Amino acid sequence: MRRRRLSSTSLIRSYNATSILRTLHAKGACTRAELARATGISPATVSRIVNQLAEAGLIQVKALAASSGGRRPALLEIDQTKLHVVGVELRRDQVAMILVNLRGEAIRRAAYPPGTLQPEALVTHLAQRIHRLIEEAAVDRGSLLGVGLAVAGVVNRAEGRVVRSVNLGWAQVPLAAQLEERLELPVLVENDANAAALSEVWFGQRHPPANLIFLKTEAGVGAGIVLEHQLFNGPRGMAGEIGHIPLIPDGHPCRCGQRGCLETYVNVRDVLKRYTELTGREADQETFFRRAAKGEPAARALVEEARQALTLASAHVALLLDVEAIFIGGVWGAFSPAFVQEVEAGVQRVIDQTGLEKSVRVHGASLGADADLMGATGLVIDSWLTPHAPDRSELVRESW
Ligand SMILES: [Zn+2]
Repeated sequence: MRRRRLSSTSLIRSYNATSILRTLHAKGACTRAELARATGISPATVSRIVNQLAEAGLIQVKALAASSGGRRPALLEIDQTKLHVVGVELRRDQVAMILVNLRGEAIRRAAYPPGTLQPEALVTHLAQRIHRLIEEAAVDRGSLLGVGLAVAGVVNRAEGRVVRSVNLGWAQVPLAAQLEERLELPVLVENDANAAALSEVWFGQRHPPANLIFLKTEAGVGAGIVLEHQLFNGPRGMAGEIGHIPLIPDGHPCRCGQRGCLETYVNVRDVLKRYTELTGREADQETFFRRAAKGEPAARALVEEARQALTLASAHVALLLDVEAIFIGGVWGAFSPAFVQEVEAGVQRVIDQTGLEKSVRVHGASLGADADLMGATGLVIDSWLTPHAPDRSELVRESW
């Protein structure tokens, strides 16, 4: 029988080593004895695995801990620059990918137009591009925890299946399974708004709020919901689909057939169309927002409408779910600090009127245009660090 090489791949996929790495990630530096207590793994096994992890360069001795007498025990620390994750943002006009270390530092990026949207062909090409990204990044394949994908649409996360994506024209595509077969790496798939919410959990503020909403705007509108640090997908993966709740009575007609939906007020294409109807002038996104910033009345009026719709939607979700913060993604979150502050003030006015004594902060997305992409990497880190979350990463764990 071929002797099993103790590659870092098998190491980071083994249950005990993963438990130790997770504990080090969560607690920071620990001694071997603390690791044994926290993981329930025997001290002898902890020592053996720690030595293997140190040999693989995944953990390092930070310092020697204080001792009550005798030899001072070594304080161990995970080397966050030695583990890597790939994130992919899949859209009909662009595929973007990034390879980062556990700190979220980009090692390599790539972006290209997908060409075909036919699932099999797209997945085959995607796998080749991911292989190339890994090669160009020159990282050890064994240091990769997995690949996360953010897709616009309804996703069955447990099965890694895109249930329906209007953006890609897909229905029932087993994306994770098809990619795993080609990459031989764990693959996780998530709705783009949910992924973007994870970008705030893993790479946003220094102390991210435990309960937050990420409002995805610009094209498709949706909300990623994080409650007690965990993504809330809903039992059918459809939580946060708030784009077509009619908000404004007798508001603008929406493509869904209703009036006054949030989506028609913040979808930039709809806003630009309305701008042309109002003024008889064409404007692209950049021109429109420049004119709005300069105070041009028609552009200002449309920005004001979007602000009102965003404020109402934010107030609804903030009251419904008692979150501490709302992050506005896309062009509206990036437009101007004053715009975001006005949404925040509007949300707070509603909350104050209800008599509830609490405050809700509203921010632009911390990672700007990278929210979905970094959220896709956060998806892998999140599942790796949350061993009991029911997702596909459980399937690839093995003991040795
Ligand atoms: Zn609608």
